[in-house]
Amino acid sequence: MRLSLGFGIKWDAAVGGGVKPFKASGTLARSFSQAASSPQPFTASFARKQRLSPLSHNFASSRLQPRRPYSSRIMSTEELDKQPPQEVKKYLQQSHDRIFESNKKWAAEQKAKNPDFFSHLNAGQSPEYLWIGCSDSRIPAEAITGLGPGEMFIHRNIANLVCSTDLNVMSVVNYAVRHLHVKHIVVCGHYGCGGVKAAMTPQDLGLLNPWLRNIRDVYRLHEAELDGIKDEEAKYNRLVELNVVEQARNVIKTAAIQQSYAKSGYPIVHGWVFGFKDGLLKDLEIDFEGQLKDIQKIYNLTS
Ligand SMILES: [Zn+2]
Repeated sequence: MRLSLGFGIKWDAAVGGGVKPFKASGTLARSFSQAASSPQPFTASFARKQRLSPLSHNFASSRLQPRRPYSSRIMSTEELDKQPPQEVKKYLQQSHDRIFESNKKWAAEQKAKNPDFFSHLNAGQSPEYLWIGCSDSRIPAEAITGLGPGEMFIHRNIANLVCSTDLNVMSVVNYAVRHLHVKHIVVCGHYGCGGVKAAMTPQDLGLLNPWLRNIRDVYRLHEAELDGIKDEEAKYNRLVELNVVEQARNVIKTAAIQQSYAKSGYPIVHGWVFGFKDGLLKDLEIDFEGQLKDIQKIYNLTS
């Protein structure tokens, strides 16, 4: 059975349990189109529109897909693979050019609405939020939170993991806390996460094994609770939530957070989960102070 992380990586794997993997057919192309063709990709009005509308994971059938100002049609991967080489080349050129067409339109719109928009952006950033989310293309962090450019520092990876050996995420956290002085750090997972689903699959997934093992470790930590859930979808959803909780814990374990909180009373670390079915964020209401106290019994790095 073909299994997908939901953003274009596909491989063959046996999927256990009763939860169907997400249909990946053409997902990348369509979501790419969705992002590229949004008339106002970063504005609050676009965000409100998105928040008020349930997001579908199947953009092909979505009534919500914004009107595309382009004449070119979005092809599914399967359809594209049947085209002769010159047609593939032409299609790729078009999908590349579409971004620049959209970018020019966006820049003109921002300038028309606020002539100082780009001089403000150019002046520097002081975001209140650090967002650590999944790379899944269906979760436009700014759009679903109603935030605009300059308001959120963003890091994304497969299944929103915070690993102490990942120089990338550790640098992001360090920079966001020590230099940008963010007030909130959000670890945001999502129901239907292909990375979490893959980690529940008893299969050798090659290069992804060490990355997904972090999620398998979350399962091991919460084995009794998860094994007690008989419904596969409920178990999957709970693992998504527990993964967010554990990654938030990993953020709290860092020296940057502990020292900044001791000195200034911020940042606060939150765990949220996004749902494709209704487009809403669920706050897992992590007890930040309680977690911090608990963690510092072993991981105290404040002195
Ligand atoms: Zn995901």
